[in-house]
Amino acid sequence: MYVWNHLAQAISCASDGRHEATFLTDARSDRVITYGDFWANAERMAAALVALGVQPGDRVAVQAPKEPAMLELYVGTVLAGGVFLPLNTAYTPDEVGFFLGDATPRVFVCDPINQESLKKVARDADVAQVLTLGRDEVGTLVSARDGQKPGFRAVPRDALDLAAILYTSGTTGRSKGAMLTHRALASNSETLRDYWRFTEQDVLIHALPIFHTHGLFVATNVTLMAGGAAIFMPGFDTAAVIEAMPKATTLMGVPTFYTRLLKDDRLAEASRNMRLFISGSAPLLADTHDQWRAVTGHAILERYGMTETNMNTSNPYEGERRAGTVGLPLPGVEVKLCDPETGAELPNGEIGVLEVRGDNVFAGYWQMPEKTAEELREDGWFITGDLAMIDADGYVTIVGRGKDLIITGGFNVYPKEVESVIDDLAGVVESAVIGVPHDDFGEAVVAVVVLEPEATLDEAGILAGISRRLAKFKQPKRVIVVDALPRNTMGKVQKNIMRADYAELFRR
Ligand code: AMP
Repeated sequence: MYVWNHLAQAISCASDGRHEATFLTDARSDRVITYGDFWANAERMAAALVALGVQPGDRVAVQAPKEPAMLELYVGTVLAGGVFLPLNTAYTPDEVGFFLGDATPRVFVCDPINQESLKKVARDADVAQVLTLGRDEVGTLVSARDGQKPGFRAVPRDALDLAAILYTSGTTGRSKGAMLTHRALASNSETLRDYWRFTEQDVLIHALPIFHTHGLFVATNVTLMAGGAAIFMPGFDTAAVIEAMPKATTLMGVPTFYTRLLKDDRLAEASRNMRLFISGSAPLLADTHDQWRAVTGHAILERYGMTETNMNTSNPYEGERRAGTVGLPLPGVEVKLCDPETGAELPNGEIGVLEVRGDNVFAGYWQMPEKTAEELREDGWFITGDLAMIDADGYVTIVGRGKDLIITGGFNVYPKEVESVIDDLAGVVESAVIGVPHDDFGEAVVAVVVLEPEATLDEAGILAGISRRLAKFKQPKRVIVVDALPRNTMGKVQKNIMRADYAELFRR
């Protein structure tokens, strides 16, 4: 790579002269992929994409199972000057059709298993090239890659050129394509590598999906930039992660990883040599934090970010990691709280909408100038839509999504406050508090609760347990006990699904 390609330059900085060092161990086969092998394949992938007609700025979309070739495709796209666009593997062909029509990629790479239906939607969306990462057939992207030589000269790209588009998970509305620049990705990964002290000595357990910012950018770019290694797993499996721990130093996970790992008796022993556990993408219960510390001696480091911004805040590496908070603004990231109605800045201590500004922030929503103008201010502040509080020491606590705010009889109820009180009751595992339509109150507070298997609590018991701790208007009008809360693949509780499920609760 001899010319300036902002992101490629940044993520390759630790690879020079380390051809023999391990980058990935493919957990499916224990195959080791060295830095030398990885870059050679990424360069050949870039050459194959250019041969398929990819020009600077062209989108390369992919919906395929997690495997090392996907990372080669990601880096190959960046080297070729393209814009990487990974799609959630859970999307149906119809949904994929929407994204392809919206993003108009030059190339679409799909899972060989679904290729018939996906080829059809891709044709309908006028995508010129549809390939798979399969190995056994001719005409796959892997065979195209193998027909190319390494030594591809990276296509020049500047800091503000696009490197990726990631569609938001859409838990509160239609998915939007967040346009991420070379600078946003490079600067954030560099900050995180230094903040979390990642080095060549680190071995990360990589069990996150790579269609999302967490597994793709945080986990992968930080490892590449540190020159460390990753044990690359096709997905999360409790036993596999426990068994990998003695060979690893760090884990990045969503809260469900941690609650599941806590159920394995081998955790204390397995985690002995681990250096760091990181959690994000959804709130980590303070209880999980405490139990984890009791079993392993480690305080999980919780951080907060989103598709549009990469990572914004993190608990410190050294210093207090406060359970229930998402820590302090990262270097280079400014945060402030604003009034949801007027947009005026609020003093610390009050609950407001969190806004962030920094090189990490995206360039806008793909083909949605109005949405961009609504959420990204001209002076660079991005309105995250998360409600938060900042304490006197600067620690940020996320109180919930702005759209989850419940207004009942004219009073504001912050779901997190009610959830925390319910979660404190003995026998409660977790809860989700939502607002549902109510003729009299506008919205009524409803709690959906998961209990311990042996708990004897019921609706009346839960209501009695919280009655002295919450003002009457905050107390749920109904409590519904369920086996599990609906979650998406990133562990986020899907309140939109519950709101739809219980929309008629007071109307029957
Ligand atoms: P996504 O764009 O899919 O990564 O979702 C971003 C959203 O996830 C944020 O706007 C927050 O609502 C939520 N989120 C991410 N990390 C955390 C965290 N540590 N605690 C609470 N919410 C989080």
